[in-house]
Amino acid sequence: MTPSAHSYSVPAPQADLTLTFKRYLDGYMKSAVASEASRAGSLPLIGNELALDFANTASGRGTATHRNHLRRAEHVIAWARHAGILTAADGDKVIRATSRNPRLASKLMAGALALRDLVYSISEAAASGREPKAEAVEQLTRLYAQCIARSRLQRVGGTFVWTWVSTDAPVQAILGPIVLSALTLLTQSDLSRVKQCEGQSCGWLFFDVTKNRGRRWCEMEVCGNRAKQRRFHARQHREDAR
Ligand SMILES: [Zn+2]
Repeated sequence: MTPSAHSYSVPAPQADLTLTFKRYLDGYMKSAVASEASRAGSLPLIGNELALDFANTASGRGTATHRNHLRRAEHVIAWARHAGILTAADGDKVIRATSRNPRLASKLMAGALALRDLVYSISEAAASGREPKAEAVEQLTRLYAQCIARSRLQRVGGTFVWTWVSTDAPVQAILGPIVLSALTLLTQSDLSRVKQCEGQSCGWLFFDVTKNRGRRWCEMEVCGNRAKQRRFHARQHREDAR
């Protein structure tokens, strides 16, 4: 099996600590809308950073049009394949392992949702010009230690990268690269470039790489055009009222 390789340079791991994901799982079970199709395997990856794309597996948080594309372990695996964390073959193996082992599926699901909440909380704060919560940063560091404990450094070309064998540690193989990406964002990036789409009921996050830092939308064709249409209709409405 080919281990998944991710070249992120990150700080040294702390001691291996145990995180409890149960409360996330309980919350997820309550809020899950099983009938709605998940687009986890086809969502646009527009965040310019893996962790931000992962946060974008939900949208419209706190609004009536809240969408959550990670409702079952297979959705998390589908996204991991789509985002290039797992090869198709490794994805199939992890799907078989989680369908045989409900505890593993629960662990993956709960870990993914906990991580997504952390990434969103930290990145949304950065996008709003606020300090990320110390507790969220601390939890991310713990999760990093857990994932790194199941990883090893492997030579790939001219450098070493953290690698996981997905059959040995499927949860860490999926969450690890996302944690590394989130830490890279925190420790090595200009956080003022982390932005949140201005679209109504969107909330997607992205790293603005434009020269003038002028990016406002997740995708111009989606939220940008909707906003344009809303402005047009509002103007029509005002003119009709005259
Ligand atoms: Zn948007």
